[in-house]
Order: sequence, then structure tokens, then C-alpha cells
Amino acid sequence: MARPCKRRRICALPSCGRFAPVTDGEHPVITMSLDEFEAVRLIDLEGLTQQECAARMNVARTTAQAIYNSARTKLAECMVNKKELRIEGGDYVLCNGDSRECVSCPKRQKKENGDENNE
Ligand SMILES: [Zn+2]
Repeated sequence: MARPCKRRRICALPSCGRFAPVTDGEHPVITMSLDEFEAVRLIDLEGLTQQECAARMNVARTTAQAIYNSARTKLAECMVNKKELRIEGGDYVLCNGDSRECVSCPKRQKKENGDENNE
């Protein structure tokens, strides 16, 4: 049986899923998926290349690039056009820390420290 669309692996969930401009009134909402969030986290915060990001997320480099570009456009849209950002949903699977690509993965570090049962 053919596998459905490959799910993107993510290592971390956002600590906050909602960001809004500090101005009065309602703001249009932009929704960023959790896989887009992960691409920004890996590339902009951890400093990974798109190639490394693709390996970590278990997708092709072109897919990682598309996810990242989409995420960046949404961030710009929020800042420039005063929109609220919500981070939710997406086609992803949460990493269990077993993948060898997951070198700086929070889950992996937890396992290696031997406190995987303390979650
Ligand atoms: Zn991981």
C-alpha cells in the first residue's frame, strides 16, 4: 500500500502559539503550521542550512526551502501589515529523539541524559 504524503518531522513545539501586535483593535490572523515554525527555528535560530534542515525534518531540500519561504513570508506579513500570528496544525510527526539526524534535538538530549521517564 502506498504511503500517504510524508509527514515532516519536528523536534520542538512552540512555547507560545499566538503572537499579536500591541495595538488596539482586531487584527487579521495568519496561521503558520508547526512544520513552518520548525523550519524557522532550525534555520534562523539553530543556524542550520536548508540542506541540514531538510535532513532533520525528513523532507527533500526543495520541500524544506518551500516550507521555510512560506514561513518567512508569513512573518513579514505579520510585522509589516500588523497581523496576528497563530502557530498550529500542519502535516507533521513529533520527533521521538531516535533519529541520528537529531543531534541538537531537545528530546534526544533528554534521552541521552537518561531522564526520559521524567517527562
Ligand atoms: Zn528530534
